[in-house]
Amino acid sequence: MRPKIVVIGSLHTDFTIKVKTIPRIGESILGESFKRSPGGKGANQAVAAARLGADVTLIGRVGADLFGKELIKNLMENGIDTKYIIEDSETYTGLALIMVDEKGGNILAVASGADMKIRKEDIDKVEEVIKSSDILLIQLEIPLHIVEYAINMAFNDGIKVLLNPAPAQKLSKDLLKKVYVLTPNEKEAEILSNVEIKDLRSSQMSAKKLLESGVENVVLTLGRNGSIIATKEETVHINGLSVNVIDTTGAGDAFCGALAVALSSRKELKDAVIYANYVGALATTKIGAQEALPTKEELENFIREVYNTSSL
Ligand code: ADP
Repeated sequence: MRPKIVVIGSLHTDFTIKVKTIPRIGESILGESFKRSPGGKGANQAVAAARLGADVTLIGRVGADLFGKELIKNLMENGIDTKYIIEDSETYTGLALIMVDEKGGNILAVASGADMKIRKEDIDKVEEVIKSSDILLIQLEIPLHIVEYAINMAFNDGIKVLLNPAPAQKLSKDLLKKVYVLTPNEKEAEILSNVEIKDLRSSQMSAKKLLESGVENVVLTLGRNGSIIATKEETVHINGLSVNVIDTTGAGDAFCGALAVALSSRKELKDAVIYANYVGALATTKIGAQEALPTKEELENFIREVYNTSSL
């Protein structure tokens, strides 16, 4: 049986201009190149899970415009069920304007558009989809009251929730106690836990504090340093993998999509994190967010070739 995952989240078009240096306020410059690509944490995590072989349904909104249609087409090409994505004629498809300089530094602004128009009725309509899924995967690029509503529904229906608290915002204890796994990165963990992260010890403290706020399990991602798993029984550090890093954009999305797949396949949390760690690392070896997300075959080859094991 293929793992069944429902993702509720954002869909964006990313507009990226490469520049020599990022312009200052009032300055106009000629950029070097331009690229339009599909993005949004909801869509990225849905594609990550689908490429790894899961049966994925994405719930969200786009504008009734060309960009929305293009995003839906891309999701369908990735085998994702898009029939519940609503085309909202009153707004535009969510987008990000990005500038990347010569050294890889960037500035980015998101206009959420249709993402912020998701309504409770959209969630009510998909209760059966949520009920029949192994896991609900959700992030914070949609209205917080919708996140709460969907998590409540999943929790009451006995469906596990994986919440990726990105972009960071404060969350209530009532919400956190309904979350099976919370996956903050370092910055998000700092904001949620009020613990400054400087080293491994402080990241363990931050993860433990989040656990105390009621979440069942915390997986704090540490970029190249891997991740921390905090459960009621133990706190474990999973080492990062040493890879030839080209672009870390979307590593967190790759990691979360993979973690949802592994948990839906009934892997133990620690084994699921080890699996997601491979996928996150592999995603950094290619340029782009969605373009860099590996398929199941690419992942298996990577593990076999680089690590000389087929232990997945
Ligand atoms: P985000 O992209 O949300 O900021 P992280 O940077 O913590 O998230 O990355 C998520 C996961 O991706 C990490 O836990 C790790 O598994 C993998 N990863 C990210 N950056 C690297 C890197 N430089 N080398 C190896 N693995 C990485």
